[in-house]
Amino acid sequence: MLDSTRCLSYWTQAPAPIPEDYRAELGAQVYGCDICQDVCPWNRGIEKRRAGETPDRDLEPHVSLVEWLEASDEELRGRYDRLYFPRNDPRYLRRNALVALGNSGDPEHATAAEPYAAGDDSLLRDHAEWALERLRPLPPHG
Ligand code: SF4
Repeated sequence: MLDSTRCLSYWTQAPAPIPEDYRAELGAQVYGCDICQDVCPWNRGIEKRRAGETPDRDLEPHVSLVEWLEASDEELRGRYDRLYFPRNDPRYLRRNALVALGNSGDPEHATAAEPYAAGDDSLLRDHAEWALERLRPLPPHG
């Protein structure tokens, strides 16, 4: 039986913090996964979905993480009204964007996470701090 709590897609849609053990595994993914649909033997014989043809990927194959983090609730809800996210609350999309931002390894992106690391929302603060730990260059050894 599939343990859904070990599924990356599950965590991008869960109303909870993404466990630290899974964050690096998510890489640049901000929503869903669907690799299992591509490798599942039950799908053989069914016209195979090709990369770029799943509904989510059709919707927007590449997203700007910085835009996600700077967009208002209304903008995110309007842009992603076809996606499920818990309680229709865009903070879960921002949580996912913070994880992907940390995985980007690009220190130039750190400024997009900083407001969340200093914010009141403990869910987003935790994920922003995690991202910033990965984005900030290590201090030089003295
Ligand atoms: S391959 Fe399937 S089960 Fe595995 S993380 Fe992706 S969606 Fe979940």
